Amino acid sequence: MIGEGSGLGARHSKIQHGRTTGELFVFDHEFYHRKSCHDGVVVWQTPPMENVALVWSDAAAEVHRFVVGPLDNNVYVVRCRRTGVAALIDAANEHERLLTVATSLGVTSVLETHGHWDHIGAVPAVRDAGMDVWVRAEDADLLPSYDHLLEDDAEHRVGDLRLRSLHTPGHTPGSACFSLVDTPLLFTGDTLFPGGPGATTFDGGDFSRIITSIDEVIFHRFDDETLLWPGHGAATTVGRERPHLDEWVTRGW
Ligand SMILES: [Zn+2]
Repeated sequence: MIGEGSGLGARHSKIQHGRTTGELFVFDHEFYHRKSCHDGVVVWQTPPMENVALVWSDAAAEVHRFVVGPLDNNVYVVRCRRTGVAALIDAANEHERLLTVATSLGVTSVLETHGHWDHIGAVPAVRDAGMDVWVRAEDADLLPSYDHLLEDDAEHRVGDLRLRSLHTPGHTPGSACFSLVDTPLLFTGDTLFPGGPGATTFDGGDFSRIITSIDEVIFHRFDDETLLWPGHGAATTVGRERPHLDEWVTRGW
C-alpha cells in the first residue's frame, strides 16, 4: 500500500515493538506524545481490543484505528471521552469484527469517505445495528442504503466533539475528508496518501479535480502539523506532502 514501510510507517513499527500496548497511541508523531505528556492527559480508559490501536488522544478525544478487508482498509473510531459517544469513519468490511469494535466503543454514527466497494462493505450491518450512515449525495448511489447526506463544510456532532465534512472530489465525485475540530487531525479517505493523491483511474475519477481538492481544501486550509489519516496505509502530515504537489501534477498521478 502506498507509503507503508517508509517514513511514519517505519517509525510506527519500531516504536510499537519497543513499547507496551498502553502507549500505542504514540506511534505516529512524537510531537503529540510529548505534548500529551506535558498536558498530563496520557490516559487510556478504553479496554484494549485485539488489533485495535488507540492512535491519538487528547483530553477530549480518542482516535482508534483498525484494519479490515482484502485491501487493508483503515477504519477509524473517533470517540468523545466525556460522553463515550463515538463515530466510525468507513464501515469498510469484516462486519462482525467491525460491529464488535464499534459497539464496544460507543459508535452511533458512520461517516463514509466515499462509496467505493472496499469502504462500504459493512454498511448494511451497521445500519441493522441502529447506527446512522452518512455519505455525500454524489456517491450515495454506490451504497446499498444509507440514512443521511453529508453537506460540505458541515459539522457532525459526536458527543462534545465535532467532525467537519469537507467535499474533496477527484477520487470519486462524492469523496469527503473529515476534520476533527480543535485537533490537528484530518481523515482523508482515498483523497490523499503519503506520496500523493488517490487513484483517479476508476469510474468517476478526475485527476485535475483531486489536485484542486488537495491544494484548495487541504493544503490551503490546514497547517504543516496537521496529521493526515488515509483510508489505507500509514499516516502522514501536511508538511510532509505539501512540497510535492507540483511533482504529482507533472507526473500525472
Ligand atoms: Zn476508493
